[in-house]
Amino acid sequence: VTGCQNEHSFETRFIDNMRIHRKFTIIYIKLAGTIADGHYHDKKQTEFIAAAKCQKIEAIKHGIHIYSLPGNAYAVFTNSRNMVSLAGRIKTILEEPIEYNGIILEIHYKMAAFNNNTYITDITKLFSFITYLNGKFSQDIENQCIICEENDYADFFYLYKIECMLADIRNKMDLNDERVICYTQPIYSIEQGTFRTAEALIRLNMDGETIYPDKFINIAEHNGCIHALTCIMLNKVCHTIKKLEGKYDFDAITVNCSTIEMSDNNLHNELLGIIKDNHIECSKVRFELTESAMINDHDAVTSNMEILHNAGIRFYLDDFGTGYSNLERIITLPFMTIKFDKSILYKALNDEDMNEIVSSMVNIFKKKGLVLLVEGVENDEHNEYSIQHGFDYIQGYKYARPVPIAELEEYFEVSF
Ligand code: C2E
Ligand code: CA
Ligand code: CA
Repeated sequence: VTGCQNEHSFETRFIDNMRIHRKFTIIYIKLAGTIADGHYHDKKQTEFIAAAKCQKIEAIKHGIHIYSLPGNAYAVFTNSRNMVSLAGRIKTILEEPIEYNGIILEIHYKMAAFNNNTYITDITKLFSFITYLNGKFSQDIENQCIICEENDYADFFYLYKIECMLADIRNKMDLNDERVICYTQPIYSIEQGTFRTAEALIRLNMDGETIYPDKFINIAEHNGCIHALTCIMLNKVCHTIKKLEGKYDFDAITVNCSTIEMSDNNLHNELLGIIKDNHIECSKVRFELTESAMINDHDAVTSNMEILHNAGIRFYLDDFGTGYSNLERIITLPFMTIKFDKSILYKALNDEDMNEIVSSMVNIFKKKGLVLLVEGVENDEHNEYSIQHGFDYIQGYKYARPVPIAELEEYFEVSF
């Protein structure tokens, strides 16, 4: 409809330009639905508008070509380097209302302009950069125009390097991969007055630099690498359990399991396989799941949980209070412990309503025989609140920060 060439022609144009070192500007445009009188309209209208806008953009000047990309997106390609003024012209065109069968239509768009740089040097990086741009666009329907600068390219490349490393970790699938570093945060039992468990927390080592999970868990969940990370973490945790078992007095080490993995019907086999290969008791390993895991694919999640539970593995509900809590579902699934997210604790301290909610939640869960853990306890105020409100376990900087798993034994008592 738009008369644009497709993404293969776009690739060819890019490759040719790279080969002959020609300067270029690309403006990536993502069109959302059309809107008229506050109502979204159909595909035909969207196509009609796209075609009209493309023609206008190509008419700005000679040498501008538009390629159509998947997902109602377009790439404007030109060898002129005047990125800012071109983006401005395109913005004006996109924002002009347009008439279709007697109604005035407007379009919503997100666009990003970029040009040659030292990072986006091949097709793979080009498309990866486009994915990066899509992630940078705001999630609302507001129009948005990003003019990329050096720091955007560098930021992209840093994430790209992480993504490549994750893919390599997944492909090698070495359960002892040294790039995956296992930290653990000891967890304090109020009743026993000692550390009884610990949570395994992942970090990556990229060329000597430590990378924290906020930088890569999201990427790993989207490029299919998260399961490899869980398996490697589990294996490293099992090694340590094997080493500490009998010598130190502790209950278990918990491993975070991603939402996405729980929908794989075969998950339990792989996890149990790793535990068995390490010859440790299943009860020494526990898994933490977030509530979103349950929304994804309830049947698969339930079945994985039940099989693992029957094998002696206990589950913690992680980050309670950050999602849309479904108490009924939580109570019917085999959870042993509820981990209250730190945001709940901090709110309860400043807000009487929240405080009441926390108090009644604690009562409900306790009546159901659940164990309660609170996260993010950093100071005396947090600590007193947690103790007074009947929490059983405390995790937080006040008691212990995450440490490399090799140092975990310093926190557990020696067994007799
Ligand atoms: P999480 O599961 O809620 O883990 C607790 C996070 O809170 C950890 O951050 C920990 O260092 C931090 N924390 C502990 N005590 C305190 C405190 O007193 N105050 C504050 N402000 N923070 C505290 P970390 O290690 O950066 O991990 C962040 C998140 O990344 C984790 O949140 C978890 O969702 C994810 N993650 C970590 N390791 C893994 C893993 O092996 N697999 C998966 N799938 N996700 C992981
Ligand atoms: Ca966790
Ligand atoms: Ca948590």
